[in-house]
Amino acid sequence: MRAVRLGKSGLMASRVGMGCIPIQRVSEEAAIRVLREAYEGGVRFFDTARMYTTSEERIGKAFEGMRDEVVIATKTNKMDYDGVMSEVEISLRNLKTDYIDLYQHHNMAALPDKENVQGAYQTMLKLKEQGVIRHIGITTHSLDVAAAAVESGQYETLQFPLSYLSGEKELDLIALCKQHDMGIIAMKALAGGLITSSRLAAAFFERYDNIVPIWGIERPDQLAEFLLHEEDIPQMDKALAAEMKADQAELSVSFCRACGYCLPCPAEIEIPTAARMGLLIRRMPAEPYMTEEAKSKMMRIENCTSCYQCQGRCPYELNTPALLRAMYADYKEEYARITGKRW
Ligand code: SF4
Ligand code: SF4
Repeated sequence: MRAVRLGKSGLMASRVGMGCIPIQRVSEEAAIRVLREAYEGGVRFFDTARMYTTSEERIGKAFEGMRDEVVIATKTNKMDYDGVMSEVEISLRNLKTDYIDLYQHHNMAALPDKENVQGAYQTMLKLKEQGVIRHIGITTHSLDVAAAAVESGQYETLQFPLSYLSGEKELDLIALCKQHDMGIIAMKALAGGLITSSRLAAAFFERYDNIVPIWGIERPDQLAEFLLHEEDIPQMDKALAAEMKADQAELSVSFCRACGYCLPCPAEIEIPTAARMGLLIRRMPAEPYMTEEAKSKMMRIENCTSCYQCQGRCPYELNTPALLRAMYADYKEEYARITGKRW
């Protein structure tokens, strides 16, 4: 397994990183088994978050007694001292460790205030001084926040959605990180499930030597597929390039990056969530999206007036109202199937 240096953090991650959202969806036994198999296959970088329910706990159980042999990244979205301190304690307990290799601000819509002594960033600095966390990173869906994070010099790694469906400006972040000696981690490397060829997805990343894609893996067969790409490294030949071009033309128009630039919506539709609902309910535990509250938020799509303000603001030129209508139709079917209730 090739190793990739995560910029100035000096952390060495395996080229195949494991995104640990999906292990929430299987039994604990199956999750631990696939984590251990990943380790045996050479995976050394595991990315989780405090908000991924059982994910940290399962990683903790899988790697108990061999902590130093893996690089563990987790995240908090808390913005104040008390919030970060309480979450880091839970993460340490879950992960059965006394340190976190990479601690990341989770899904930031703006850069945390670096001057606020009671704020999240300053708290992370204190935790780093104490050795509780080794390195500080940031994750975001916003291109502006990502670029500002790199330019700030405050962070050692950036985690951002990147795949062959990304636009040029998004992909420029990879070179920008290299220039600033910052590690770059690609989340949603399969565009949240829209990309179905892992071989093509992996071939695309071969043009970059500084990136660690994290693949959402929950089953041994998925793991085997990604491990195979390390044994037989896929090259972007003519056939794969043609496939990529076709996918870019077809799929880029339906991939919501959850950046939130389209907000506010006069009908109060939570667009970044609603426009990804089909992916969320298939990749995350579906139950939290089936509550009365979640359902009533999706029903706001009925109030869409087709004002197209959202579409005008979307940097990816998505036809947001059409996407929302498609997501709503799919959600109704999935709601009935999963809950057994009539719509
Ligand atoms: S088109 Fe619909 S979803 Fe978009 S801003 Fe207008 S009301 Fe909201
Ligand atoms: S619809 Fe466009 S602007 Fe809105 S969250 Fe999705 S990608 Fe961002």
